[in-house]
Amino acid sequence: MTFAFDNTYARLPERFYARIAPTKVREPRLVTMNHPLAELLGLDPAQLDSADGAQILAGNVVPEGAAAIALAYAGHQFGGFVPQLGDGRAILLGEVVGVDSRRRDIQLKGAGRTPFSRGGDGRAALGPVLREYIVSEAMAALGVPTTRALAAATTGESVVREELLPGAVLTRVAASHIRVGTFQFFAARDDREALAILTAYALARHYARETGGSANSENDALQLLERVLEAQASLVARWLGVGFVHGVMNTDNTSIAGETIDYGPCAFLDEYDPAKKFSSIDHGGRYAFANQPRMAHWNLARFADTLLPLISEDDGKAIRLATERLERFPAIFDAAYTGVMRAKLGLMREEENDRALVADLLQRLASSGVDHTVFFRALCVAAEDPSADAHVASLFEEPPTFRTWTESWRRRLLNDEITPAARASAMRRVNPAFIPRNHRVEQAIVAAIGGDFEPFETMVRVLARPFDDQPEFTYLAKPPLPEERVRATFCGT
Ligand code: AMP
Ligand code: MG
Repeated sequence: MTFAFDNTYARLPERFYARIAPTKVREPRLVTMNHPLAELLGLDPAQLDSADGAQILAGNVVPEGAAAIALAYAGHQFGGFVPQLGDGRAILLGEVVGVDSRRRDIQLKGAGRTPFSRGGDGRAALGPVLREYIVSEAMAALGVPTTRALAAATTGESVVREELLPGAVLTRVAASHIRVGTFQFFAARDDREALAILTAYALARHYARETGGSANSENDALQLLERVLEAQASLVARWLGVGFVHGVMNTDNTSIAGETIDYGPCAFLDEYDPAKKFSSIDHGGRYAFANQPRMAHWNLARFADTLLPLISEDDGKAIRLATERLERFPAIFDAAYTGVMRAKLGLMREEENDRALVADLLQRLASSGVDHTVFFRALCVAAEDPSADAHVASLFEEPPTFRTWTESWRRRLLNDEITPAARASAMRRVNPAFIPRNHRVEQAIVAAIGGDFEPFETMVRVLARPFDDQPEFTYLAKPPLPEERVRATFCGT
Protein backbone atom coordinates (compact mmCIF):
# COMPACT_ATOMS: atom_id res chain seq x y z
CA MET A 1 0.00 0.00 0.00
CA THR A 2 1.60 3.27 -1.04
CA PHE A 3 0.91 6.68 0.43
CA ALA A 4 3.09 9.48 -0.91
CA PHE A 5 3.59 10.91 2.57
CA ASP A 6 5.41 14.20 3.04
CA ASN A 7 5.31 14.88 6.76
CA THR A 8 6.12 18.53 7.35
CA TYR A 9 4.66 18.77 10.87
CA ALA A 10 6.75 15.84 12.06
CA ARG A 11 9.81 17.81 10.92
CA LEU A 12 9.00 20.63 13.34
CA PRO A 13 10.83 20.56 16.70
CA GLU A 14 10.22 17.53 18.91
CA ARG A 15 8.32 19.55 21.52
CA PHE A 16 5.43 20.02 19.05
CA TYR A 17 4.30 16.39 19.36
CA ALA A 18 5.00 12.94 20.73
CA ARG A 19 6.07 10.12 18.44
CA ILE A 20 3.68 7.28 19.08
CA ALA A 21 2.34 4.42 16.97
CA PRO A 22 -1.32 3.36 17.07
CA THR A 23 -2.15 0.47 19.41
CA LYS A 24 -3.08 -2.73 17.62
CA VAL A 25 -6.68 -3.94 17.77
CA ARG A 26 -8.13 -7.43 17.70
CA GLU A 27 -10.18 -7.58 14.52
CA PRO A 28 -10.04 -4.63 12.11
CA ARG A 29 -12.95 -4.44 9.73
CA LEU A 30 -13.87 -1.58 7.44
CA VAL A 31 -17.37 -0.21 7.87
CA THR A 32 -17.02 2.23 5.04
CA MET A 33 -14.39 3.77 2.81
CA ASN A 34 -14.84 7.10 1.08
CA HIS A 35 -13.80 6.41 -2.51
CA PRO A 36 -14.18 9.95 -3.92
CA LEU A 37 -12.15 11.38 -1.03
CA ALA A 38 -9.45 8.72 -1.47
CA GLU A 39 -9.18 9.74 -5.11
CA LEU A 40 -8.94 13.40 -4.17
CA LEU A 41 -6.08 12.52 -1.83
CA GLY A 42 -4.31 10.68 -4.64
CA LEU A 43 -4.81 7.31 -2.94
CA ASP A 44 -6.04 4.14 -4.60
CA PRO A 45 -9.55 3.54 -3.22
CA ALA A 46 -9.69 -0.10 -4.33
CA GLN A 47 -6.41 -0.83 -2.58
CA LEU A 48 -7.56 0.86 0.63
CA ASP A 49 -10.99 -0.79 0.56
CA SER A 50 -9.56 -4.20 1.42
CA ALA A 51 -8.42 -6.32 4.33
CA ASP A 52 -4.96 -4.75 4.06
CA GLY A 53 -6.55 -1.31 4.03
CA ALA A 54 -8.48 -2.19 7.19
CA GLN A 55 -5.21 -3.12 8.91
CA ILE A 56 -3.88 0.37 8.20
CA LEU A 57 -7.09 2.29 8.87
CA ALA A 58 -7.64 0.57 12.23
CA GLY A 59 -4.04 1.23 13.25
CA ASN A 60 -2.58 -2.29 13.12
CA VAL A 61 -0.11 -1.57 10.35
CA VAL A 62 1.71 1.73 10.03
CA PRO A 63 2.18 2.32 6.32
CA GLU A 64 5.58 3.03 4.86
CA GLY A 65 6.51 6.69 4.94
CA ALA A 66 4.20 7.55 7.85
CA ALA A 67 5.56 9.48 10.83
CA ALA A 68 3.01 8.66 13.51
CA ILE A 69 2.66 11.50 16.03
CA ALA A 70 0.20 12.85 18.59
CA LEU A 71 0.09 16.66 18.54
CA ALA A 72 0.56 18.81 21.62
CA TYR A 73 -2.04 21.48 22.33
CA ALA A 74 -3.78 23.29 25.15
CA GLY A 75 -7.16 24.98 25.22
CA HIS A 76 -9.91 26.93 26.89
CA GLN A 77 -12.73 24.49 27.59
CA PHE A 78 -16.01 26.27 28.38
CA GLY A 79 -13.98 29.31 29.38
CA GLY A 80 -11.45 27.56 31.65
CA PHE A 81 -7.86 27.20 30.53
CA VAL A 82 -6.26 23.75 30.43
CA PRO A 83 -2.52 24.17 29.72
CA GLN A 84 -2.11 20.63 28.40
CA LEU A 85 -4.60 18.66 26.33
CA GLY A 86 -3.11 17.24 23.13
CA ASP A 87 -4.17 14.31 20.95
CA GLY A 88 -5.25 11.86 23.61
CA ARG A 89 -6.75 9.38 21.20
CA ALA A 90 -5.83 10.60 17.75
CA ILE A 91 -2.64 9.79 15.91
CA LEU A 92 -1.50 11.62 12.81
CA LEU A 93 -0.13 9.19 10.25
CA GLY A 94 1.16 11.88 7.95
CA GLU A 95 0.40 14.38 5.22
CA VAL A 96 -0.36 13.84 1.57
CA VAL A 97 -0.73 16.33 -1.26
CA GLY A 98 -3.94 15.63 -3.17
CA VAL A 99 -4.69 15.73 -6.88
CA ASP A 100 -5.96 19.28 -6.22
CA SER A 101 -2.43 20.17 -4.96
CA ARG A 102 -3.75 20.67 -1.42
CA ARG A 103 -1.87 19.22 1.51
CA ARG A 104 -3.94 17.32 4.05
CA ASP A 105 -3.40 15.41 7.29
CA ILE A 106 -4.47 11.79 7.56
CA GLN A 107 -5.23 11.01 11.18
CA LEU A 108 -6.62 7.99 12.99
CA LYS A 109 -9.07 8.99 15.71
CA GLY A 110 -9.57 6.34 18.39
CA ALA A 111 -6.16 4.77 17.68
CA GLY A 112 -5.10 4.13 21.28
CA ARG A 113 -3.41 5.86 24.16
CA THR A 114 -0.80 8.58 23.71
CA PRO A 115 1.27 10.62 26.17
CA PHE A 116 -1.64 13.11 26.10
CA SER A 117 -4.37 10.63 27.07
CA ARG A 118 -4.52 11.67 30.73
CA GLY A 119 -7.17 9.33 32.21
CA GLY A 120 -8.67 8.33 28.86
CA ASP A 121 -8.49 5.00 27.05
CA GLY A 122 -7.47 6.48 23.70
CA ARG A 123 -10.41 4.82 22.04
CA ALA A 124 -13.60 5.81 20.24
CA ALA A 125 -16.96 4.08 20.19
CA LEU A 126 -18.72 3.18 16.96
CA GLY A 127 -21.62 5.61 17.53
CA PRO A 128 -19.59 8.84 17.66
CA VAL A 129 -17.38 7.60 14.81
CA LEU A 130 -20.38 7.08 12.53
CA ARG A 131 -21.83 10.38 13.68
CA GLU A 132 -18.67 12.24 12.73
CA TYR A 133 -18.55 10.35 9.43
CA ILE A 134 -22.13 11.27 8.50
CA VAL A 135 -22.05 14.87 9.69
CA SER A 136 -18.60 15.89 8.48
CA GLU A 137 -19.24 14.44 5.02
CA ALA A 138 -22.65 16.14 4.94
CA MET A 139 -21.02 19.46 5.85
CA ALA A 140 -18.52 19.03 3.01
CA ALA A 141 -21.37 18.41 0.56
CA LEU A 142 -23.17 21.47 1.95
CA GLY A 143 -20.12 23.53 1.06
CA VAL A 144 -19.06 24.24 4.64
CA PRO A 145 -15.30 24.05 5.30
CA THR A 146 -14.73 20.94 7.36
CA THR A 147 -12.48 18.06 8.21
CA ARG A 148 -13.49 15.00 6.20
CA ALA A 149 -13.95 11.31 6.88
CA LEU A 150 -11.93 8.88 4.77
CA ALA A 151 -12.97 5.69 6.52
CA ALA A 152 -14.55 4.10 9.56
CA ALA A 153 -13.36 0.76 10.85
CA THR A 154 -14.51 -1.39 13.74
CA THR A 155 -11.87 -2.87 16.01
CA GLY A 156 -13.51 -6.06 17.23
CA GLU A 157 -12.97 -4.72 20.74
CA SER A 158 -15.33 -3.14 23.23
CA VAL A 159 -14.87 0.26 24.78
CA VAL A 160 -16.16 1.03 28.24
CA ARG A 161 -18.37 4.09 28.48
CA GLU A 162 -21.56 4.10 30.57
CA GLU A 163 -22.02 0.71 28.95
CA LEU A 164 -19.88 -1.59 26.78
CA LEU A 165 -19.88 -0.33 23.21
CA PRO A 166 -18.28 -1.54 19.99
CA GLY A 167 -14.95 0.19 19.38
CA ALA A 168 -14.10 1.94 16.14
CA VAL A 169 -11.50 4.14 14.48
CA LEU A 170 -12.28 7.10 12.24
CA THR A 171 -9.80 8.19 9.59
CA ARG A 172 -10.03 11.95 9.69
CA VAL A 173 -8.67 14.17 6.96
CA ALA A 174 -7.95 17.84 7.67
CA ALA A 175 -6.20 20.80 6.07
CA SER A 176 -4.18 20.54 9.27
CA HIS A 177 -4.80 19.87 12.93
CA ILE A 178 -3.36 23.18 14.12
CA ARG A 179 -5.76 24.79 16.56
CA VAL A 180 -5.91 28.00 18.56
CA GLY A 181 -5.03 25.63 21.40
CA THR A 182 -1.77 24.70 19.67
CA PHE A 183 -0.65 28.33 19.98
CA GLN A 184 -1.90 28.43 23.55
CA PHE A 185 0.22 25.39 24.41
CA PHE A 186 3.39 27.31 23.60
CA ALA A 187 2.17 30.66 24.93
CA ALA A 188 1.48 29.01 28.30
CA ARG A 189 5.13 27.90 28.33
CA ASP A 190 6.47 31.32 27.26
CA ASP A 191 8.00 29.54 24.28
CA ARG A 192 8.33 32.47 21.92
CA GLU A 193 10.55 30.54 19.55
CA ALA A 194 7.95 27.80 19.10
CA LEU A 195 5.24 30.43 18.56
CA ALA A 196 7.28 32.04 15.79
CA ILE A 197 7.90 28.67 14.13
CA LEU A 198 4.24 27.72 14.37
CA THR A 199 3.11 31.09 13.00
CA ALA A 200 5.38 30.88 9.98
CA TYR A 201 4.37 27.27 9.43
CA ALA A 202 0.62 27.99 9.63
CA LEU A 203 0.89 30.99 7.31
CA ALA A 204 2.85 29.06 4.74
CA ARG A 205 0.64 26.00 4.94
CA HIS A 206 -2.78 27.66 4.94
CA TYR A 207 -2.49 31.22 3.75
CA ALA A 208 0.49 31.25 1.42
CA ARG A 209 -1.57 32.44 -1.51
CA GLU A 210 -3.14 35.42 0.24
CA THR A 211 0.11 36.67 1.74
CA GLY A 212 2.27 35.95 -1.24
CA GLY A 213 4.29 33.65 0.97
CA SER A 214 6.27 36.46 2.54
CA ALA A 215 8.17 35.65 5.69
CA ASN A 216 8.39 39.00 7.37
CA SER A 217 8.51 37.89 10.95
CA GLU A 218 7.09 40.95 12.71
CA ASN A 219 4.04 41.05 10.54
CA ASP A 220 3.60 37.30 10.21
CA ALA A 221 1.63 37.20 13.42
CA LEU A 222 -0.68 40.05 12.45
CA GLN A 223 -1.23 38.58 9.02
CA LEU A 224 -2.07 35.22 10.46
CA LEU A 225 -4.47 36.82 12.92
CA GLU A 226 -6.24 38.61 10.07
CA ARG A 227 -6.50 35.50 7.92
CA VAL A 228 -7.82 33.37 10.79
CA LEU A 229 -10.35 36.07 11.73
CA GLU A 230 -11.68 36.02 8.18
CA ALA A 231 -11.71 32.25 7.95
CA GLN A 232 -13.58 31.87 11.25
CA ALA A 233 -16.07 34.61 10.37
CA SER A 234 -16.86 32.94 7.09
CA LEU A 235 -17.05 29.52 8.71
CA VAL A 236 -19.50 30.51 11.44
CA ALA A 237 -21.63 32.44 8.92
CA ARG A 238 -21.97 29.22 6.96
CA TRP A 239 -22.86 27.27 10.09
CA LEU A 240 -25.72 29.66 10.76
CA GLY A 241 -26.86 29.36 7.17
CA VAL A 242 -27.40 25.61 7.46
CA GLY A 243 -28.58 25.63 11.09
CA PHE A 244 -25.51 23.95 12.53
CA VAL A 245 -24.79 24.02 16.27
CA HIS A 246 -21.19 22.96 16.90
CA GLY A 247 -21.75 22.46 20.60
CA VAL A 248 -18.16 22.51 21.84
CA MET A 249 -16.43 25.57 20.40
CA ASN A 250 -13.50 25.38 22.77
CA THR A 251 -10.23 26.88 21.59
CA ASP A 252 -8.78 23.39 21.17
CA ASN A 253 -11.58 22.77 18.66
CA THR A 254 -10.96 26.00 16.72
CA SER A 255 -9.00 25.25 13.56
CA ILE A 256 -6.42 27.71 12.29
CA ALA A 257 -7.29 26.61 8.76
CA GLY A 258 -10.92 27.62 9.36
CA GLU A 259 -12.42 24.15 9.08
CA THR A 260 -15.18 22.76 11.23
CA ILE A 261 -13.43 20.30 13.53
CA ASP A 262 -14.53 18.00 16.33
CA TYR A 263 -17.98 16.60 15.75
CA GLY A 264 -18.73 15.59 19.33
CA PRO A 265 -22.07 16.95 20.48
CA CYS A 266 -22.93 18.90 17.31
CA ALA A 267 -26.44 18.90 15.89
CA PHE A 268 -28.58 20.67 13.30
CA LEU A 269 -31.57 22.80 14.12
CA ASP A 270 -34.93 21.35 13.28
CA GLU A 271 -37.21 24.26 14.23
CA TYR A 272 -35.50 27.63 14.14
CA ASP A 273 -34.54 28.67 17.66
CA PRO A 274 -31.61 31.06 18.20
CA ALA A 275 -31.20 29.90 21.81
CA LYS A 276 -31.00 26.22 20.84
CA LYS A 277 -28.29 24.08 22.42
CA PHE A 278 -28.10 20.32 22.35
CA SER A 279 -24.96 19.39 24.26
CA SER A 280 -25.68 17.87 27.65
CA ILE A 281 -22.53 19.47 29.06
CA ASP A 282 -23.22 22.99 27.77
CA HIS A 283 -25.25 23.96 30.82
CA GLY A 284 -25.29 27.71 30.33
CA GLY A 285 -25.88 27.59 26.57
CA ARG A 286 -22.44 29.13 26.01
CA TYR A 287 -22.35 27.55 22.56
CA ALA A 288 -26.05 27.94 21.71
CA PHE A 289 -26.90 28.52 18.04
CA ALA A 290 -26.93 32.32 17.94
CA ASN A 291 -24.03 32.65 20.39
CA GLN A 292 -21.61 31.05 17.97
CA PRO A 293 -20.33 34.25 16.33
CA ARG A 294 -19.69 35.78 19.75
CA MET A 295 -17.86 32.67 20.94
CA ALA A 296 -15.76 32.56 17.78
CA HIS A 297 -14.77 36.15 18.52
CA TRP A 298 -13.88 35.19 22.09
CA ASN A 299 -11.74 32.30 20.81
CA LEU A 300 -9.99 34.64 18.39
CA ALA A 301 -9.19 36.99 21.24
CA ARG A 302 -7.48 34.05 22.98
CA PHE A 303 -5.61 33.41 19.73
CA ALA A 304 -4.52 37.05 19.57
CA ASP A 305 -3.26 36.81 23.18
CA THR A 306 -0.81 34.11 22.14
CA LEU A 307 0.53 36.23 19.27
CA LEU A 308 1.22 39.40 21.29
CA PRO A 309 4.92 38.69 21.90
CA LEU A 310 5.37 38.21 18.15
CA ILE A 311 3.40 41.27 17.14
CA SER A 312 5.67 43.69 18.93
CA GLU A 313 8.25 43.75 21.71
CA ASP A 314 6.40 46.79 22.97
CA ASP A 315 3.44 45.33 24.92
CA GLY A 316 1.26 48.40 24.52
CA LYS A 317 1.82 48.49 20.79
CA ALA A 318 1.18 44.75 20.44
CA ILE A 319 -2.10 45.04 22.31
CA ARG A 320 -3.17 48.04 20.27
CA LEU A 321 -2.44 46.32 16.95
CA ALA A 322 -4.12 43.08 17.95
CA THR A 323 -7.15 44.87 19.36
CA GLU A 324 -7.56 46.83 16.15
CA ARG A 325 -7.76 43.57 14.21
CA LEU A 326 -10.08 41.89 16.70
CA GLU A 327 -12.47 44.81 16.66
CA ARG A 328 -13.02 44.24 12.96
CA PHE A 329 -14.46 40.80 13.59
CA PRO A 330 -18.12 41.78 14.06
CA ALA A 331 -18.13 43.68 10.76
CA ILE A 332 -16.32 40.89 8.91
CA PHE A 333 -18.76 38.37 10.34
CA ASP A 334 -21.74 40.54 9.52
CA ALA A 335 -20.66 40.86 5.89
CA ALA A 336 -20.14 37.11 5.58
CA TYR A 337 -23.43 36.31 7.30
CA THR A 338 -25.44 38.81 5.29
CA GLY A 339 -23.97 37.29 2.14
CA VAL A 340 -25.05 33.82 3.23
CA MET A 341 -28.57 34.97 4.08
CA ARG A 342 -28.97 37.03 0.91
CA ALA A 343 -28.24 33.93 -1.12
CA LYS A 344 -30.74 31.92 0.94
CA LEU A 345 -33.44 34.48 0.22
CA GLY A 346 -32.52 34.67 -3.45
CA LEU A 347 -31.41 38.31 -3.26
CA MET A 348 -28.92 39.18 -5.94
CA ARG A 349 -27.75 42.75 -5.39
CA GLU A 350 -26.70 44.11 -2.01
CA GLU A 351 -29.10 46.48 -0.33
CA GLU A 352 -28.86 48.05 3.08
CA ASN A 353 -32.37 46.91 4.06
CA ASP A 354 -31.56 43.25 3.44
CA ARG A 355 -30.34 42.87 7.01
CA ALA A 356 -33.67 44.03 8.35
CA LEU A 357 -35.53 41.70 6.02
CA VAL A 358 -33.46 38.76 7.31
CA ALA A 359 -33.83 39.74 10.97
CA ASP A 360 -37.58 40.16 10.58
CA LEU A 361 -37.90 36.73 8.98
CA LEU A 362 -35.82 35.01 11.64
CA GLN A 363 -37.93 36.52 14.38
CA ARG A 364 -41.05 35.16 12.74
CA LEU A 365 -39.52 31.72 12.22
CA ALA A 366 -38.49 31.64 15.88
CA SER A 367 -41.86 32.72 17.21
CA SER A 368 -43.63 30.05 15.16
CA GLY A 369 -41.08 27.27 15.66
CA VAL A 370 -40.86 26.66 11.91
CA ASP A 371 -38.43 24.04 10.65
CA HIS A 372 -35.37 25.90 9.37
CA THR A 373 -34.47 23.62 6.47
CA VAL A 374 -38.04 22.92 5.33
CA PHE A 375 -38.83 26.62 5.32
CA PHE A 376 -35.94 27.73 3.12
CA ARG A 377 -36.41 24.84 0.73
CA ALA A 378 -40.10 25.68 0.40
CA LEU A 379 -39.17 29.31 -0.22
CA CYS A 380 -37.23 28.19 -3.32
CA VAL A 381 -40.51 26.95 -4.80
CA ALA A 382 -42.31 30.17 -3.88
CA ALA A 383 -39.56 32.18 -5.59
CA GLU A 384 -40.72 30.97 -8.97
CA ASP A 385 -44.35 30.22 -8.19
CA PRO A 386 -46.17 32.69 -5.92
CA SER A 387 -49.05 30.24 -5.59
CA ALA A 388 -46.70 28.21 -3.38
CA ASP A 389 -46.90 30.98 -0.76
CA ALA A 390 -49.93 29.27 0.74
CA HIS A 391 -47.89 26.15 1.39
CA VAL A 392 -45.04 28.13 2.95
CA ALA A 393 -47.51 30.05 5.11
CA SER A 394 -49.02 26.77 6.29
CA LEU A 395 -45.69 25.94 7.96
CA PHE A 396 -46.39 28.73 10.47
CA GLU A 397 -48.76 28.38 13.41
CA GLU A 398 -50.42 31.58 12.21
CA PRO A 399 -50.12 31.81 8.40
CA PRO A 400 -50.33 35.65 8.42
CA THR A 401 -46.96 35.61 10.22
CA PHE A 402 -45.45 34.62 6.90
CA ARG A 403 -47.80 36.59 4.64
CA THR A 404 -46.88 39.98 6.05
CA TRP A 405 -43.18 39.19 5.62
CA THR A 406 -43.57 37.81 2.12
CA GLU A 407 -44.99 41.12 0.93
CA SER A 408 -41.71 42.87 1.79
CA TRP A 409 -39.71 40.00 0.33
CA ARG A 410 -41.59 40.09 -2.97
CA ARG A 411 -41.18 43.87 -3.21
CA ARG A 412 -37.47 43.42 -2.65
CA LEU A 413 -37.22 40.70 -5.34
CA LEU A 414 -38.38 43.22 -7.93
CA ASN A 415 -35.10 45.14 -7.54
CA ASP A 416 -33.02 42.29 -8.96
CA GLU A 417 -32.80 41.56 -12.63
CA ILE A 418 -33.15 37.81 -12.79
CA THR A 419 -35.84 35.45 -13.99
CA PRO A 420 -37.87 33.67 -11.32
CA ALA A 421 -36.65 30.30 -12.59
CA ALA A 422 -32.99 31.34 -12.40
CA ARG A 423 -33.52 32.75 -8.91
CA ALA A 424 -35.20 29.59 -7.71
CA SER A 425 -32.45 27.46 -9.11
CA ALA A 426 -29.77 29.61 -7.43
CA MET A 427 -31.69 29.30 -4.15
CA ARG A 428 -31.84 25.52 -4.49
CA ARG A 429 -28.06 25.45 -4.64
CA VAL A 430 -27.75 27.05 -1.19
CA ASN A 431 -30.88 25.84 0.61
CA PRO A 432 -30.50 22.10 1.10
CA ALA A 433 -33.34 19.61 0.98
CA PHE A 434 -31.32 17.28 3.20
CA ILE A 435 -29.36 17.89 6.38
CA PRO A 436 -28.26 15.18 8.82
CA ARG A 437 -31.36 15.26 10.98
CA ASN A 438 -30.44 14.38 14.54
CA HIS A 439 -33.12 11.73 14.92
CA ARG A 440 -32.05 10.03 11.70
CA VAL A 441 -28.40 10.08 12.75
CA GLU A 442 -29.41 8.45 16.04
CA GLN A 443 -31.50 5.83 14.25
CA ALA A 444 -28.64 5.01 11.88
CA ILE A 445 -26.27 4.61 14.82
CA VAL A 446 -28.65 2.36 16.78
CA ALA A 447 -29.13 0.17 13.70
CA ALA A 448 -25.36 -0.03 13.10
CA ILE A 449 -24.65 -1.02 16.69
CA GLY A 450 -27.21 -3.79 16.12
CA GLY A 451 -25.27 -4.89 13.02
CA ASP A 452 -27.40 -3.21 10.33
CA PHE A 453 -25.34 -0.61 8.46
CA GLU A 454 -27.92 -0.02 5.75
CA PRO A 455 -29.48 3.16 7.27
CA PHE A 456 -25.98 4.60 7.78
CA GLU A 457 -24.99 3.90 4.18
CA THR A 458 -28.24 5.34 2.83
CA MET A 459 -27.80 8.54 4.84
CA VAL A 460 -24.25 9.00 3.61
CA ARG A 461 -25.35 8.48 0.02
CA VAL A 462 -28.32 10.85 0.20
CA LEU A 463 -26.39 13.55 2.10
CA ALA A 464 -23.69 13.56 -0.56
CA ARG A 465 -26.26 15.39 -2.76
CA PRO A 466 -28.05 17.63 -0.25
CA PHE A 467 -29.30 20.13 -2.82
CA ASP A 468 -31.03 17.54 -5.04
CA ASP A 469 -34.58 16.52 -4.37
CA GLN A 470 -34.38 12.78 -4.02
CA PRO A 471 -38.08 11.93 -3.83
CA GLU A 472 -37.59 8.33 -2.72
CA PHE A 473 -35.79 9.63 0.39
CA THR A 474 -38.17 12.37 1.54
CA TYR A 475 -38.39 10.55 4.88
CA LEU A 476 -34.82 11.74 5.49
CA ALA A 477 -35.80 15.34 4.75
CA LYS A 478 -38.71 15.45 7.17
CA PRO A 479 -38.49 16.99 10.64
CA PRO A 480 -38.83 14.55 13.54
CA LEU A 481 -42.18 13.56 14.99
CA PRO A 482 -42.55 14.70 18.60
CA GLU A 483 -41.55 11.27 19.89
CA GLU A 484 -38.50 11.16 17.58
CA ARG A 485 -37.00 14.44 18.70
CA VAL A 486 -33.43 14.37 19.99
CA ARG A 487 -33.25 16.67 22.99
CA ALA A 488 -29.65 16.28 24.05
CA THR A 489 -26.37 15.13 22.56
CA PHE A 490 -23.34 13.73 24.31
CA CYS A 491 -19.67 14.15 23.66
CA GLY A 492 -19.22 10.43 23.22
CA THR A 493 -15.75 10.37 24.76
P1 AMP B 1 -12.75 16.72 22.85
O1 AMP B 1 -13.79 16.93 23.88
O2 AMP B 1 -13.04 15.58 21.92
O3 AMP B 1 -12.40 17.97 22.12
O4 AMP B 1 -11.45 16.24 23.63
C1 AMP B 1 -10.82 17.01 24.60
C2 AMP B 1 -9.54 16.36 25.02
O5 AMP B 1 -9.78 15.08 25.60
C3 AMP B 1 -8.54 16.11 23.89
O6 AMP B 1 -7.26 16.31 24.41
C4 AMP B 1 -8.76 14.66 23.56
O7 AMP B 1 -7.64 14.07 22.96
C5 AMP B 1 -9.04 14.07 24.93
N1 AMP B 1 -9.83 12.84 24.87
C6 AMP B 1 -11.13 12.73 24.55
N2 AMP B 1 -11.52 11.45 24.60
C7 AMP B 1 -10.45 10.70 24.96
C8 AMP B 1 -10.23 9.31 25.19
N3 AMP B 1 -11.19 8.41 25.06
N4 AMP B 1 -8.99 8.93 25.55
C9 AMP B 1 -8.00 9.83 25.68
N5 AMP B 1 -8.15 11.15 25.50
C10 AMP B 1 -9.36 11.59 25.14
MG1 MG C 1 -11.29 18.20 20.45
